[in-house]
Amino acid sequence: MKDFTAELAELDEQSLRRTLRWLDGAQSREIFLDGIEGLNFASNDYLGLANHADLKTAMLEGVERWGVGSGASRLITGSMTAHGMLEEKISELKGTEAALSFANGYATSVGTVSALVGKGDTVILDKLSHASLIDGARLSGATIRVFPHNNLEKLERLLESCSKTDSRVLVITESVFSMDGDVALLGDIIRLKNQFGALLLLDEAHGLGVYGENGMGLSEYLGLSSEVDIHMGTLGKAAGVAGGYIAGCRDMVDLVVNKGRSFIYSTAPPPAQAYTAMKALELIVSEEGKHRREKLWDNINYLSQKLKIEGTSAILPWHVGESEEALALMESLKQKGIFVPAIRYPTVPRKTARLRITLTAEHSREDLDLLVGKLVG
Ligand SMILES: *Cc1c(COP(=O)(O)O)cnc(C)c1O
Repeated sequence: MKDFTAELAELDEQSLRRTLRWLDGAQSREIFLDGIEGLNFASNDYLGLANHADLKTAMLEGVERWGVGSGASRLITGSMTAHGMLEEKISELKGTEAALSFANGYATSVGTVSALVGKGDTVILDKLSHASLIDGARLSGATIRVFPHNNLEKLERLLESCSKTDSRVLVITESVFSMDGDVALLGDIIRLKNQFGALLLLDEAHGLGVYGENGMGLSEYLGLSSEVDIHMGTLGKAAGVAGGYIAGCRDMVDLVVNKGRSFIYSTAPPPAQAYTAMKALELIVSEEGKHRREKLWDNINYLSQKLKIEGTSAILPWHVGESEEALALMESLKQKGIFVPAIRYPTVPRKTARLRITLTAEHSREDLDLLVGKLVG
């Protein structure tokens, strides 16, 4: 039997070993990482809400009103007023009949996908779908089919091949792909899923807060919200707090309440978390939220133009290739006070290691110029 030390040594040899890096203080534009002070280009806190004064106040208020823990799963006695307030806000903003919240996005994906499809059904995923969606599909017992990233021809063929049965077919895609920062061909995907009578789950983890007049995501921006059967997302990225949600028709949500194992067999998230997330959504649609979104897009447009890469989201990949090279570049930037994470196998395919630059509304022009100087000299 191979011992743990040997397995870790193997990871080390391939430059694939991961270790935790410790952050001092709050998430913000400037952080202390492993004791070094520098600029944070590594957070998904796109609007800079994680350390927002109003949200800190909301969290404290939530604790005052409801204590720190929820004490039970939602179906026992853990469904508290704050969870209901959050869900009402989500369905109002998404324009759906109902919504359901979870402790985080991971639990949302796993619980929802495995509740909505099962043995005999089919899940069709974009090849670059997030691990949580893949895990949900595996757990469901449904047949899993994968189409190459954004490849509509292949998606059409897959839909065709399973359209003859009366079992459920669920197409899954993300609005923004988390490691490449590019977007789904949502209009075409919707046309196809409608043509073949399939359902669509859209994961807006990196879309919420970033796109659309109200910041409700790519589906809002493209005017396609009502065509999405299952809206999904996290409240831990642009919303700056923690949690996950789905939104859609009442029966879909009720089915997840009844069959979503990560929902049923888990203590409800702290009510103060749900309350703060609700306040974060209010902030996202407010004038201030709009202003922060504009600032974020100014930053995206500026940096992508300077680095001559596409800027379709707040995630800008700087391609390197080999894992060792990406790690070395990350280290050298870190020593110069710039934090950009290296992303490598197995998160992305081998030989496609990259630095994953994430921008927020908090970055200044000078911050971006500093990064550009270090990357392209
Ligand atoms: C981060 C992420 C999740 C998981 O959300 P958490 O709240 O972090 O658990 C799900 N899907 C995608 C695409 C993500 O990027």
